[in-house]
Amino acid sequence: MKLYNLKDHKEQVSFSQAVKQGLGSQQGLFFPLELPEFELTDIDAILEMDFLSRSIKILSAYIGDEIALQQLSENVKNAFSFSVPVVQISDNIACLELFHGPTLAFKDFGGRFMAQMLSYLSGADDEQITILTATSGDTGAAVAHAFYGMKNMRVVILYPEGKISLLQEKLFCTLGGNIETIAIDADFDTCQVLVKQAFNDEILKKAISLNSANSINISRLLAQICYYFEAISQLPQKKRNQLVVSVPSGNFGNLTAGLLAKSLGLPIKRFIAATNANDTVPRFLQGGSWTPNATVATLSNAMDVSQPNNWPRVEELFRRKTWHLTDLAYGSVSDEMTCSTICELAKIDYISEPHAAIAYRLLSDQLEEGEFGLFLCTAHPAKFKVSVEEILQQTLPLPKALADRTDLPLLSYHMNADFASLREFLLKS
Ligand SMILES: *Cc1c(COP(=O)(O)O)cnc(C)c1O
Repeated sequence: MKLYNLKDHKEQVSFSQAVKQGLGSQQGLFFPLELPEFELTDIDAILEMDFLSRSIKILSAYIGDEIALQQLSENVKNAFSFSVPVVQISDNIACLELFHGPTLAFKDFGGRFMAQMLSYLSGADDEQITILTATSGDTGAAVAHAFYGMKNMRVVILYPEGKISLLQEKLFCTLGGNIETIAIDADFDTCQVLVKQAFNDEILKKAISLNSANSINISRLLAQICYYFEAISQLPQKKRNQLVVSVPSGNFGNLTAGLLAKSLGLPIKRFIAATNANDTVPRFLQGGSWTPNATVATLSNAMDVSQPNNWPRVEELFRRKTWHLTDLAYGSVSDEMTCSTICELAKIDYISEPHAAIAYRLLSDQLEEGEFGLFLCTAHPAKFKVSVEEILQQTLPLPKALADRTDLPLLSYHMNADFASLREFLLKS
């Protein structure tokens, strides 16, 4: 598989390089040079396959012979080790539950596949890689669980002390082993600054092999294509042809993956780009100008992004496929509307959380006669327990993945926001 840098089309790399490097020069995103397409007549057969076999087929259509099929199969099996059910909500609407992985959010798909790929592709070098990342909660958990126990992988995660919930902390700061977590006495932005400093530090560059495993890694996007196929495979034949898919979006990785699934030939009539008040994309699609506002805090905080970093990939795909951006549906949903939608869903016996509720709201509002709608549920309601319990005035049970960890001791180190201390920490192995 060859990829090019969106900021400099002459810079071309292999899949392996793109995974290890993350970004190209000038912070450019990598994009596939070839866009594979399944034959229309093969799509039904592909949909008949089981989730793992089908995912291997999809991923190898992109990755090609750069990774042997046997190897890829093993990685896919390790990464996708949980279920992806479609749940019927009403006559014409269903949801795809992407939160049955170890950290109860859809980031487990991308995170776990990326970990498998990074570990395999750097394994040949047999040197220790240090994954360094800052988290405001969820991404860190997915990264920690994805790399937990992997040979030659040391994971160091910084987070703002006291600024993430105790449940979130329990989820990834209790693992130990190759996962080291550091509570920094500062806010999330400061954690990110420390991580950036580390990547630019000459002493560290010479001494250790650092990797960010961040959210723009191409391996994450490819992994996420697979569950769009899985969703459709679970729908009855007659609902597959007029399908509208609503995607709760922040950095727009999830939507990019859906569009790549369509580009492979998956029959999806229309996508809805669903955002919260951070509505740079809806305003752009409506009026044509790209004017990000300051990011505002909302209930759906994983979507509090005003400069979505995958958007250039969306535009590139539309350009390459000669699709029209005007065919992309969109909308933004306020916190108030998000709350009333969570209540509306509870009345039809579906407990959701703010991100999924936003996708449902726009889907339900925009679905036309004869169409079937699917919205993506990106997190388990228990992950947003405090807000959901307050909105619904009821207590939610803790799912097993969380309940199992609540009694374990926190193993985090504590550090002032001081780069010299972080450097010293990273240098001792
Ligand atoms: C990350 C995240 C999103 C946004 O996904 P993008 O791929 O960044 O658009 C939506 N919901 C939840 C729960 C998330 O964690």
